[in-house]
Amino acid sequence: GKPVCECNTCFGGPDCSQFSPDCPADVDSGNPLFLEPFWMQNAASGALLVSGWHRMSYSYDDQSNISEELEKHIRKLHSIVGNAVTEGRFIVFGTGSTQLLNAAVHSLALTNSSSRAAVVTTKPFYPVNPLPNLRVFLFFNSVTMIAIMVEILIQDAKRRLIGYEVSELESISSLTKQYDNMANTQAYKSQTDFFRSVDYNFVGDTSLFKNATDGNANIIEFVTSPNNPDGLLKKAVLEGPHAKAINDHAYFWPHYTAIPAPADEDVMIFTLSKLTGHAGSRFGWAVIKDEAVYQAMSAYASQISFGVSHDTQLVALKLLKFVGQGKGEIFDFGFETMRNRWEILGKTLSVSSRFSIQEIEPQYCSFYQKVREPSPAYAWFKCERDEDEDCYAVLRAAGIITRQGTIFGADSRYVRLSLIKTQDDFDLLIRKLTILVSEEDGAK
Ligand code: PMP
Repeated sequence: GKPVCECNTCFGGPDCSQFSPDCPADVDSGNPLFLEPFWMQNAASGALLVSGWHRMSYSYDDQSNISEELEKHIRKLHSIVGNAVTEGRFIVFGTGSTQLLNAAVHSLALTNSSSRAAVVTTKPFYPVNPLPNLRVFLFFNSVTMIAIMVEILIQDAKRRLIGYEVSELESISSLTKQYDNMANTQAYKSQTDFFRSVDYNFVGDTSLFKNATDGNANIIEFVTSPNNPDGLLKKAVLEGPHAKAINDHAYFWPHYTAIPAPADEDVMIFTLSKLTGHAGSRFGWAVIKDEAVYQAMSAYASQISFGVSHDTQLVALKLLKFVGQGKGEIFDFGFETMRNRWEILGKTLSVSSRFSIQEIEPQYCSFYQKVREPSPAYAWFKCERDEDEDCYAVLRAAGIITRQGTIFGADSRYVRLSLIKTQDDFDLLIRKLTILVSEEDGAK
């Protein structure tokens, strides 16, 4: 008989070749596939062939879990791009920057003081959600699985007894003791002790804390610069001896923003995901000024997973060596692609009075040594009609899947559109938006 053809939702017809007009434009996730064509064009430079016997050990020759060669290339890359000061700083590797963001909260809470720490950020914000958010733990090895179980139990106990100090949470220790008896492994015990040793709560927007920083409260501020969702460069708002910032620089690369000067903060976090686009390799690094914070973050990474996969470190080395070799080809590719998309989106919306996107001023970039136009990773999109308009629903009805503004602490008039997915995703977005705008009453 005839071969059965399984089409996906966007294609139909006998041989799956007909594009369906009902196919939605999905611009929800921040999957950085816009960089795929770059690696296709440079196929040999990004390719790896690894023997089965290569790097089987838990550690590198010097007992460390961090590839010295990779660390060297990361420092070199920062100095070529001029986006971070790394001289005299410590570097910690993580399973994506997600793990490092959690490691940093944990470590700053530990090193800040013995009392409970409040975690704050400024709206609209990337919802990192330290540890309690279990989305973080989608991985792999047995140690991590045990850590997940511990974390679920701790969070569950906390949720039920919210408002109490952790020292009062007797139920945590009884729950974890039960698990101790069941699992009875040394790793499990050390992790239980480790993850129980500090406590922190996500409490909300920095504006609540602006006047409270001269008290004794320990405050950890998340600063995402450029910001996700709105692409603006940000600085920490809170000051004082009890305020510590975690600077998430996932997008601080020439693809997405001008680089005005090298970042020079105490805790800076970067990721391969948005630099080369290899989000699935799960590799990030933190640049740390203070040795105690560095030690605490290293201990965290070691407890949660015995460090970062050496295969991943090899991939990162191969890619970053290439990125740091030429004349910044990946940055030109990244900037031109993103700039082009931003221009097309701007033109599409220029005839609309119903919808708007954020404005970002051209800015001097020390990497390109000139003033350059914006090219953010996301559009922070606003429905302008009603105060309480559900912008997500408006766009969903027009066949566009976005991420709700409420997830970023904003109101429902806002949504985020990802511009870093494939060219097909972007083209479909523009096609759907063009139709939506043309149907507007009184479109200009
Ligand atoms: N920080 C920001 C601001 C992000 O947008 C993302 C991914 N969307 C991350 C961190 C996490 O990236 P990863 O864990 O892949 O390094």
